Amino acid sequence: MNPYVQYMYSYPHKTAYRPLTGFDLKDHVHGLKGPGHGLYLHIPFCQAKCGYCNLFSVTGQGSKAVDRYLDALERQCGQYAELLDSQKTEFSELVIGGGTPLYLTEDQMERMFAMLKEHFHFNEEREFVIETAPNQTTAEKLKRLKQAGATRVSMGIQSFLDKELSALGRQHSAKSAREALNLLKSYQFPCVNLDFIYGIPGQTEGSLLRTLQEALDYEPDEIFLYPLYIKHGAGLEWAGVVPDWKGAMGQYERASFFLKENGFRQDSMRRFVRTDAKRAFSECGFGSSLSLGCGGRSYLGRLHFCRPYAVTQKECLAGIEEYVNCKDYREISHGILLSEEEIKRRFVIRHLLIRPGLPLEQYQMHFGSDAIEDFPLLKKWAEEGYVKRERHLNQQKSRGIDKNNGEPYLALTEKGLAFSDYLGPQLISPQIQRAMKGWEDEHGRIYAAVSGESEKL
Ligand code: SF4
Repeated sequence: MNPYVQYMYSYPHKTAYRPLTGFDLKDHVHGLKGPGHGLYLHIPFCQAKCGYCNLFSVTGQGSKAVDRYLDALERQCGQYAELLDSQKTEFSELVIGGGTPLYLTEDQMERMFAMLKEHFHFNEEREFVIETAPNQTTAEKLKRLKQAGATRVSMGIQSFLDKELSALGRQHSAKSAREALNLLKSYQFPCVNLDFIYGIPGQTEGSLLRTLQEALDYEPDEIFLYPLYIKHGAGLEWAGVVPDWKGAMGQYERASFFLKENGFRQDSMRRFVRTDAKRAFSECGFGSSLSLGCGGRSYLGRLHFCRPYAVTQKECLAGIEEYVNCKDYREISHGILLSEEEIKRRFVIRHLLIRPGLPLEQYQMHFGSDAIEDFPLLKKWAEEGYVKRERHLNQQKSRGIDKNNGEPYLALTEKGLAFSDYLGPQLISPQIQRAMKGWEDEHGRIYAAVSGESEKL
């Protein structure tokens, strides 16, 4: 049984979103009232497209194109800020992702930070998370990040072996990764995360462990281990690479055992956190979140929205062009309005796949029903050894709880963690599955019709 069906980092997937009419941010901005929300900023530029990437990102763009994007971002910030003022919105988390945010020059970074500071209010304790890549990590840029108060810097290393980096179509070498990491560590950010990939063509359990062993020398606070997925539109799909899921499973088992033996706890199939890490696990994406730029999504209660999903260079460039020419960023034209049943599914998916798991009492209090009765699959998974009941203290809700016993959770077992990408997709509703399939059918045909596009990806 192939356990690698789909990574459920959010629900529903963007491919289930459709055009919306008559939606305006002003009618939904109350979802961002007061403190405790997330702000996401998407920078869609990269040096080159990695072979496995199906994210919204473009390559070959010069400084002028970035400046135009920042001009648009500034207009969007201004329009959003006007609406947020009435709600006294205070963000507790800022995430800058991409793309490669440090693709920007130092001056462009300064401009981006200045516009965020001018237009939005942040909690003093706010988290500030940013992604980077070895080739774009310079002392000057890290200095700017430090001055801007970044709390978590995440670097995509993927492997310390040049052969594997080249199989992935990454632009950096093992040597440049080491140099960038030494530099990054010297700035002493509160949290450093490193991303790695397993299931790479030619990779073995031994070579993965060598990479992880070397990673530990840099004392990262967190490690994300991603299985290699090859999806529609990614360069490796065009190259005809077929992932070896059996090999990947063996690598996952060895790697998760190795990290746990070396002082990490496992929070999800992908996330490993140092057991002595002071930072609590951030439940990014569970609350309301507003997105800036053209590739991220906003979550305002039942309403989820973004710009249309795009993968190829051509589609992403068209999306950016539409974004920079947009006059009114408050108009919401693409997304989904979730039913109560879909909200329940989202709650179950987002909690169950991340430790400590699904808080059963919280579910009952929130929805007035029992999670296991609502989702009989959960009972079946308990019988099959994928999930089990555990008790944990819930730090967000301690009133009335017996602290010695904690609250009941349904949590993934070791076997459940390994099969997260097999279990999660089974919780997708039939309606959402149909919508996703509709998108895949249509875009699958488009990709087949433009064979040769791989060179442009
Ligand atoms: S995976 Fe590669 S191409 Fe995709 S966003 Fe990250 S750096 Fe850019």
